[in-house]
Amino acid sequence: MPEGLVARLILGLLLSAAIAGAGVWRRALTWGGVAGAVVVGTLIFAFGGLAWAIPMVAFFVAGSVLSALGRERKRALAAVAAKSARRDLVQVLANGGAATALALAAGSTGQAALLFSAYLGVLAAVTADTWSTEIGALSRRPPRLITTLAVVLPGTSGGVTPLGLLAAVAGGLCIGALGWLSLLLDTGPARLGPVNALALGALAGLAGSLLDSLLGATVQEVRWCPACQVATEAAVHRCGTRALPYRGWPGLNNDVVNFLASLIGIPVGVLVVALA
Ligand SMILES: [Zn+2]
Repeated sequence: MPEGLVARLILGLLLSAAIAGAGVWRRALTWGGVAGAVVVGTLIFAFGGLAWAIPMVAFFVAGSVLSALGRERKRALAAVAAKSARRDLVQVLANGGAATALALAAGSTGQAALLFSAYLGVLAAVTADTWSTEIGALSRRPPRLITTLAVVLPGTSGGVTPLGLLAAVAGGLCIGALGWLSLLLDTGPARLGPVNALALGALAGLAGSLLDSLLGATVQEVRWCPACQVATEAAVHRCGTRALPYRGWPGLNNDVVNFLASLIGIPVGVLVVALA
């Protein structure tokens, strides 16, 4: 066991419990989501370190704040979405699972510099997706499907707006900037200059958001409520009617799509460092 790991696990546990506790209080997490956030936060802090933990905390806090923006407007979109604004265990793991695996790998392989770039890429991708969803939902323009450009209802998976894409790049840039700043605080693993960090964040963010929309428009499972005659992502529509299969791959829900889209951050992160 690496030196000081137990101490870092305990400190990580205390810090993530405090942050996840605030998440419950702000109604950003379910209790399952708290459990997921504590596991993710503890492992990333213990095996990655402070430079790894700071961008993850920023992702979580910003996501919670943005989720509360325009609550009334977003409530109307809940007709399509399967879940409420509160993140549950599966959502937390979909967003934080790949990042946690990279931190564990960094703690045990000595490839911390390369893995940190891949980690920032993954975080930029999930941050971009969260920002584009939360900010894009406030767009005055109706979303268009990324594949056919047909106008779709707000909240439809695969729908994009210029505002949402702008938000995706902004979210990725923030993670890139924070990643670079975090390395200054911590005697961090990577030599990642500010320009490379920003490029990494913007590219991974845009790629993650576009891939999420592409998967959402093509293979993501969409169901149909026969009572309300609307598409939904929930197995049981909020009216109480069991929704029927409509299109996409059974089981490939929004959480799986989020996880898959986050993986695009790995090659983007590695490539930016390799080319730098
Ligand atoms: Zn219904």
